[in-house]
Amino acid sequence: MKKIAVFPGDGIGPEITAAACGVLEAVADLSGMEIDMQQGLVGGAALEAHGDPLPEESLRLALSADAVLLGAVGGPKWDSHPPQLRPEQGLLRLRKGLDLYANLRPVQVWPQLVDSSPLRPELVLDVDILVVRELTGDIYFGTPRGTDIQNGLRRGWNTMVYDENEIRRIARVAFDAARGRRRKVCSVDKANVLETTRLWREVVTEVAEEFPDVALEHMYVDNAAMQLVRCPSQFDVILTGNMFGDILSDEASQLTGSIGMLPSASLGSGRGMYEPIHGSAPDIAGRDVANPLATVLSVSMMLRHSLGSTGWANQVEEAVRTVLDRGLRTADIASPGVASIGTRAMGESVVAALRQGGGA
Ligand code: NAD
Repeated sequence: MKKIAVFPGDGIGPEITAAACGVLEAVADLSGMEIDMQQGLVGGAALEAHGDPLPEESLRLALSADAVLLGAVGGPKWDSHPPQLRPEQGLLRLRKGLDLYANLRPVQVWPQLVDSSPLRPELVLDVDILVVRELTGDIYFGTPRGTDIQNGLRRGWNTMVYDENEIRRIARVAFDAARGRRRKVCSVDKANVLETTRLWREVVTEVAEEFPDVALEHMYVDNAAMQLVRCPSQFDVILTGNMFGDILSDEASQLTGSIGMLPSASLGSGRGMYEPIHGSAPDIAGRDVANPLATVLSVSMMLRHSLGSTGWANQVEEAVRTVLDRGLRTADIASPGVASIGTRAMGESVVAALRQGGGA
């Protein structure tokens, strides 16, 4: 029996996780895999119920599970809360509590959606990137941090910090992943300005010696942001820190046409957590219009990395391919003037394709 902790979160979170759970249930049904899904509260939903974005029982639920599926957290309702009482803190604490230091974000362009990309088709057709983002360090966690008033002026500060062990372990994840791909790692930093990332470059170069079959290139983050738009197909594995990875993977998501298509896996020493890369999209929440495919594809990553079922991971991807081949689109990936379907219908279509054997 595999135990899955499900945290729908806020905004569109409950809608997209419901669709993804439907897909996981169908996999369990078709494969005979025994899966026990239990829901918990995180983010704004947990703040409302318990006054804490990550109540103790939610962390316990996550720690007792084989894998975690998360929707998204946050929303304008909590924007004025102090930092420790913001929904995003729940997510950051969950990642830290599960020691999920490696965030894998595959960026693949689905040929059926090539026209949804803001870039010309010939620029994006061959894009197949894996962003490996460090997830538990960097300026998002570094201390000291805070705000105060000095000489009548409001000030704010954060600390960008990595130690060599943190850099070494995420670098190894990237080099390992590259061995299963095109054997190229591009490490992104800002070593010309930031001491933290000068150390990053040094340690990544040392780790590269353990992987002589993988080519290593270093790139400054500003150049990487430009190259992602200029010639995205040059990248295989992009290795970077927490903040640069956050920004670059959102940029890369646009190559695919919609942020609603990008899944992620967060891995560490134990269980993994799987979530779409997008946020809670309050602007479209509760209207059955969100694209659930990023969350469905996160389930595929869960099957691959935590449930030991590459075969069913492939089947879920095949079912997504089938619904796209059939021309089914949520609003974010529909061409202008083309009819779209809702979140629920998209989830049900993936389930139907799965039940028909990927529609093959
Ligand atoms: P967002 O990713 O929620 O939305 C950005 C844009 O993309 C919006 O126009 C939204 O409608 C659209 N979008 C996002 N997901 C979509 C989907 N599945 N289908 C169709 N369209 C989709 O980012 P934001 O607006 O900057 O942030 C909203 C809230 O989400 C904030 O509170 C933020 O802190 C939070 N957030 C949470 C996470 C997370 O939970 N991992 C990540 C990023 C942002």
